[in-house]
Amino acid sequence: MKKLYISLFAICFSLLVRAQTASFSITYDGFTPQAQAAFQYSAGVWTNIVESAVPIKVLVHFQMLMPGMLGITFPNGRKNFSGAPMADTWYSTSLANSIAGVELNPGEVDIEMYLNSNTAWYFDSTGTVPAGQYDLATVAIHELCHGLGFLSLAKKTGTIGSFGMLTASDFAPLTTSYPWPNLDTLPSVFDHFLVTNLNAELDTFPNPSASLGTKFTSNNIYFNGANAMAANNGIKPRISAVSAFALGSSITHLNESSYPAGNINEMMTPNGNPAYALHNPGPICKGILKDIGWNMNPAKVEEIPYMGYAINVYPNPSHDYIYFSISIPKEKIQSIELKNILGEKVGAMENNSAYDVSKLSKGIYFITITASDFQAVQKVVLD
Ligand SMILES: [Zn+2]
Repeated sequence: MKKLYISLFAICFSLLVRAQTASFSITYDGFTPQAQAAFQYSAGVWTNIVESAVPIKVLVHFQMLMPGMLGITFPNGRKNFSGAPMADTWYSTSLANSIAGVELNPGEVDIEMYLNSNTAWYFDSTGTVPAGQYDLATVAIHELCHGLGFLSLAKKTGTIGSFGMLTASDFAPLTTSYPWPNLDTLPSVFDHFLVTNLNAELDTFPNPSASLGTKFTSNNIYFNGANAMAANNGIKPRISAVSAFALGSSITHLNESSYPAGNINEMMTPNGNPAYALHNPGPICKGILKDIGWNMNPAKVEEIPYMGYAINVYPNPSHDYIYFSISIPKEKIQSIELKNILGEKVGAMENNSAYDVSKLSKGIYFITITASDFQAVQKVVLD
C-alpha cells in the first residue's frame, strides 16, 4: 500500500507543475470589465489544453446582435501552407500557425468573434449560474473552440449542399478585420472527417450537389476521427445535422440530443442553456481537435479532464471497495456520483472516503465529479 501511495503522489506532482502550453493575445472591443474578466478566464482554459508556440490572436467584439444569438466566431484560415497535413484544405490560422511553428498571418488576427451584449449574461465564472442567465465563460470557451478549427464550411442553399462556398455576404452586416478569402469550394479539415451513417465520406460527394444537401439535413452525420472515437467508447461521435439547415449551426456542432445538458460532451452542441455552466470542452471535443491536427497538452486529459486537480482512485480494478479523493476545496464539490455505463447513478460517493462496491455487478463504471467550476469523469472497473 505504501508503494502505491508513493506512485500516486508522483502523479499528483507532475499534474500540479504542468505549465500552460498555449498563449492568447486578446483585443477587446466594447467590453465591460466584468465581461472581459469572464472572457479572459475562458481563454485561460484553452491555454492548458492545446499546444502552440505561436500566440493565438483574438479580436472579440461585445455588441448588440440578433436577439437569441449568443455569439458567432470567424476563424481566419490558411490552406496549402508549408507543412499542411492535408492539401487543398482549410485550416484555422491558429492551427496552421501551431503546425508551421511560425506566424503565417502577421498583421491579421486568428479568431474574430462577436458576443451579443444584449444577453442576460452571468460574468462570475463560478459555475453557479442564476436562473435565466447565460454563463459568458461557457459561451466564450465554446466560441473559442470554433476559432481553433472546430468548424465546418458546409452551406445549404435551397436543396444544394456545398463545402467552401461561404461568402462574407452570408454574415453581413458582421465583418472581419482580415480579408475574407475565396474558399474555392474546399472543405475545412474538420469536414474531411464527416461521414454518413453508411460511412460514406462527405468530401467524396459532388460539391456542390443536391445529394450533399440531402445529407446535411439527414440527422445522420458522424465524425470519423480516431481520437474522437476513442473518446466516445469507440463509436463515431454524432454531428448536428438537423432537418432544417441553419447556417453556422448545422454540421459545425455535436448533436444536441446525443449530448444534452449535463453530458460531459455538451460544450460543442449548438444550443446554449440558461442557468448552466460547463468549463471543460469534454473528451470528444478534445479528440476532434487532436484529429484535425492540434497537439494537445500531453497530460492524460481524457482520464482527468480538468487540469490542476489530482484525482486518486484505488484499488482500480476493485471488487470490494474503492477509495476516492480529489484535491479541491470541500465547498466546491457539488456531487461525486458513481454511474454505470448507461450513465445511470448507482451510488453517491464522498471525497477522501472508501465506497463499498461489493454488491455491484462486474463491469465499467464512472466516478463523475461535479464541482462549481468543472466536471470530471474517472473510469473504474469492478472485477
Ligand atoms: Zn457554436
